[in-house]
Amino acid sequence: MTLRLFGCVCGQFHTEPRGLGISGEGRISVPVPFYVLEHPDGVALFDCGLPAAMIDHEDRFRQALRATDVDASLTAEETVTSHLERLDIDPARVSKVVLSHLHFDHAGGLGELPNATLVVQRREWEAGFDPALSAQYGLRKRFFDHGHKVQLVDGEHDVFGDGSAVCVPSHGHTPGHQSLRVKSEQGDHLLTGDACYACEVVETRQFPSFSDPAAMNRSLDALLAMREADTVMVFGHDPGQWGETPVLPSGRA
Ligand SMILES: [Zn+2]
Repeated sequence: MTLRLFGCVCGQFHTEPRGLGISGEGRISVPVPFYVLEHPDGVALFDCGLPAAMIDHEDRFRQALRATDVDASLTAEETVTSHLERLDIDPARVSKVVLSHLHFDHAGGLGELPNATLVVQRREWEAGFDPALSAQYGLRKRFFDHGHKVQLVDGEHDVFGDGSAVCVPSHGHTPGHQSLRVKSEQGDHLLTGDACYACEVVETRQFPSFSDPAAMNRSLDALLAMREADTVMVFGHDPGQWGETPVLPSGRA
């Protein structure tokens, strides 16, 4: 096995748990993870977290989120660049960013990754440029349209050509959402992205209001059916997976 997988937390959301399909009262903080795939053929990321501009409490987009009762927080140590530098990876060396979807908390770090080719489902990319769909699903061009090279894929796609990382379409959260199946030195992982925000949602099936719930149910069923005995599912924003014992390492120690 030649692939190494790291999981890094790039900031947090602070909001009501119910909007995320998570039970409980009061406020909850949930992580914004992204993943680093270190392969002999190059470094790829799966998603890239929040934009570094959101470190600033008065950032205009953070203010707009607060108006919808969602705050975000991000420290200088949590940016994509800081995480990569701790792994001794120059951000300019990242050759691919596989995007689960085009939301700002998954595509936000693209501005820090100048040489990456984006690997995106064709229907997601097209939705991002469709006025009605981009408005309905909150796909904001300023977070993903930076002039990167884009590789559009339709359905399953083998990222390195050796089966170690395979994109799996999981539409519903957004029109062309995809998940990533990874076989690495760290084991067999299914990175769901926002096809499932948290472990609890596997049971509750509480999906965000903007999403297509029928498609989300179908996608989540397909992801669950794909698991093998030792597959670990890593969810989109599950606080339990990134607490004292993170589900994936963020460093080489
Ligand atoms: Zn998200």
